[in-house]
Formats: sequence, C-alpha cells, structure tokens
Amino acid sequence: MKVHVDLDTCCGHGRCYALCPEVFGEDDEGYPLVSEEVIEAKQEARVRRAAANCPEAAITLVENGE
Ligand code: SF4
Repeated sequence: MKVHVDLDTCCGHGRCYALCPEVFGEDDEGYPLVSEEVIEAKQEARVRRAAANCPEAAITLVENGE
C-alpha cells in the first residue's frame, strides 16, 4: 500500500500524525510530512485509521496492484 497526502486539501488539523506518527510527521507549520510513502504491512491498519479520520479526506491510499 502507498499513501499520499494532498497538501492543497489538507488544513493541518494534525489527526494523521497524532494517530500514526510512525508514518506521518509534522512540518514547522503543522502540515504532515509522509516519512514512508510505501507502507509496511504492520503499519497499514494505523494508516487506514488516520486516513479515515482526516476531516478533509486529504489522504489517499493506493493498494498494491492498483
Ligand atoms: S488529518 Fe488530514 S487535514 Fe489533518 S493534517 Fe492530516 S492530512 Fe491534513
């Protein structure tokens, strides 16, 4: 699975890095920095949870093979 954050849509609420700091970092202005674009299997559930909780639907997940 790969993850992408649309920074044009993101408003910097920070739920993604609060829920999954292993994958989502934070820049100086509170916007997310994706540290690993390709997600390890053990992190997928947390990344899915972060994406589901993004108020702006700014996180896109691409499943393997798509
Ligand atoms: S939860 Fe969504 S809107 Fe908030 S910082 Fe993360 S990507 Fe941006």
